Amino acid sequence: MNTPISIDRNEILKRYEPIAKHTHKGLQGHALIIGGSYGKIGAVCLAGKAALKTGCGLVTAFVPECGYQIVQISNPELMVITDADEKHLSDIDFDLKPNAIGIGPGMGLHTETQKAFHDFLSNTSVPMVIDADALNILAYNPSWMALVSPRTILTPHPKELERLIGKWNSEAEMFQKTIAFSLVNQVIIVMKGAPTYTIDGETVYLNTTGNAALATAGSGDVLTGIITSLLAQSYKPCDAAILGVYLHGLTADIALPETGYQSFVASSIIEYLGKAYLSLD
Ligand code: AMP
Ligand code: MG
Repeated sequence: MNTPISIDRNEILKRYEPIAKHTHKGLQGHALIIGGSYGKIGAVCLAGKAALKTGCGLVTAFVPECGYQIVQISNPELMVITDADEKHLSDIDFDLKPNAIGIGPGMGLHTETQKAFHDFLSNTSVPMVIDADALNILAYNPSWMALVSPRTILTPHPKELERLIGKWNSEAEMFQKTIAFSLVNQVIIVMKGAPTYTIDGETVYLNTTGNAALATAGSGDVLTGIITSLLAQSYKPCDAAILGVYLHGLTADIALPETGYQSFVASSIIEYLGKAYLSLD
């Protein structure tokens, strides 16, 4: 394995593009977050709000019918479209042209959702982040990886990674298998953990921000929203992944002296995104 490239502030400043003074929301990208199921609509609310607070001009959530009011009330800035089914996704069909899609948070593993995800993948080539149960569906149906467009970003935590690539006996083997999976499928893999590595074929990036405060419910859903937002703003997929992971971690580093570990929750990541951005300017 090549020596990982350490992603510090200098590396980020090479990739970060401040927002242009005369931009308007139509130029800031439209992100679509797809996910949610009965009892797990919050995952989409978190990802959607994170996408907005990462600078995206427009964000739409696609959720089962039961999520309509929840998303609208929790986030007035979000637009919402709904699946015909009340409790889970059964037909992922929409009349929108988003610049990027994040799919998986809170989505569940219902048989109809799995079929809907298959059909969605067959018909979509928009830049994409695949997370959570969408990753698990791919792990249970490995041949569907052929439907995933090149340069798609996958964001597994260790258990999700294990389902995708199989068990490993050492850290070296874990990297070897993840790199092979990235090369064969031409995807970028964000190996979430402490620390997080981003794998783009043979190139490995080591993130330098973040702390244990991030070990909290919804943390990964927020990361999906952040990376999807950056993709929608035209960052190249690998840069979107690297910058997104860095910002996500930076919020926790900035917040720690104010919140401590215990009271930092996934919404705190979203709350501190502004300070994370200001520290880059
Ligand atoms: P998820 O399990 O999908 O909610 O994702 C958890 C997120 O929190 C990932 O981005 C992890 O890298 C991050 N995270 C979890 N625990 C830690 C830790 N102890 N130190 C740094 N980051 C962490
Ligand atoms: Mg997760």
